[in-house]
Amino acid sequence: MNKETLTRELFNEVMVPNYAPGSIIPVRGEGSRIWDQEGREFIDLQGGIAVTCLGHTHPGLIGALEEQAGKLWHLSNVMTNEPALRLAKTLCDHTFAERVFFANSGAEANEAALKLARRYAWEHHGEEKNEIIAFKSSFHGRTLFTVSVGGQPKYREGFEPAPGGVAHADFNDLESVKKLISKDKTCAVIVEPIQGEGGVIPADPEFLKGLRELCDENDALLIFDEVQTGVGRTGHLFAYQMYDVVPDILSSAKSLGGGFPIAAMLTTAKVAASLGVGTHGSTYGGNALACAVGQKVIDTVIQPDILKGVVARSDRLRKGMMAIGERYGVFSEVRGAGMLLGCVLTDEWKGRAKDFLNAGLDEGVMVLVAGTNVVRLAPSLIIPEADIDEALERFETAVKKLTAA
Ligand SMILES: *Cc1c(COP(=O)(O)O)cnc(C)c1O
Repeated sequence: MNKETLTRELFNEVMVPNYAPGSIIPVRGEGSRIWDQEGREFIDLQGGIAVTCLGHTHPGLIGALEEQAGKLWHLSNVMTNEPALRLAKTLCDHTFAERVFFANSGAEANEAALKLARRYAWEHHGEEKNEIIAFKSSFHGRTLFTVSVGGQPKYREGFEPAPGGVAHADFNDLESVKKLISKDKTCAVIVEPIQGEGGVIPADPEFLKGLRELCDENDALLIFDEVQTGVGRTGHLFAYQMYDVVPDILSSAKSLGGGFPIAAMLTTAKVAASLGVGTHGSTYGGNALACAVGQKVIDTVIQPDILKGVVARSDRLRKGMMAIGERYGVFSEVRGAGMLLGCVLTDEWKGRAKDFLNAGLDEGVMVLVAGTNVVRLAPSLIIPEADIDEALERFETAVKKLTAA
């Protein structure tokens, strides 16, 4: 089959209609540039939704993948393997974690985190302590448990009955958590340090500190979902390090593989002990190829000049977007951290985020949305500054045309 038959129309004929992909079909990428079937070139500020943290076809990642591909791909968890051990050790060395569980997606890492929190409370406090507090507008994945914990009811509509024992508080509102939390019932609080899908909304530092205290007072575990904020995205390896609030469990995915599927749940030795032999598992979790790629991602991202570069790039991109926002009256605010930015539409443009995405594509720049009121940017952590400048020029042209229309 060739490009004439591999069309966007074919999607409707052979794929389940749960996505609505755009009209172009990218076929090649290099750094922060992408080319489609027609040879049209785009600057990529989507980053595969905070996944391709080192851009496309990064030579180091290709090298790591090829080297491991020639050695050993997969064993099963009946045996361990060197890449998994090495990556787990690296993650423990650079974080609060003492134990790691590998999975394949963000939802799976969260599923493991939530199951572990239940199991830990069951073991230490009894079965009554099973309630999970999550936040409205939060996103934790698409398995039945994670859409039930997530704070967007539309994602569980029609899939009920959903797992029970979940309550939703208001993000950045400690009082709403105090009303729900209790020593008898609450086993865990799960929160994104920056709500990604919910609109790129950063947690207030005091809010996360308050959650830590409330969890301690109520013998509940604090889970940070860092699937979107982790692996250098904020200019820190993980966002908890920026906030200086240490969770009991942390989930990572997306950027962890730089485009190769891998996820990890990080925790302490004490908490990890509740997932004893046979309590949980995954066929592909800890796959040697995935861990070899993840290792190269972490080894690269952890370098101080890369993390510092994220902050510099963030400033450049944020200022540029804010300037466009002011010139055309489209953004009221640009929020977020590092290479995870949300440009909030002004009242006049409310509900039209998708129009900005489409206008960008017409001018050769790929941006994301987060809901209908926020234009989201999650590019590579090492996007060249020249690409940022050119992306801003292209996006300005897009906004100019959109606002003149
Ligand atoms: C994307 C995302 C998930 C889900 O990850 P998948 O790999 O799609 O399962 C979970 N939590 C957050 C915060 C995310 O951004």
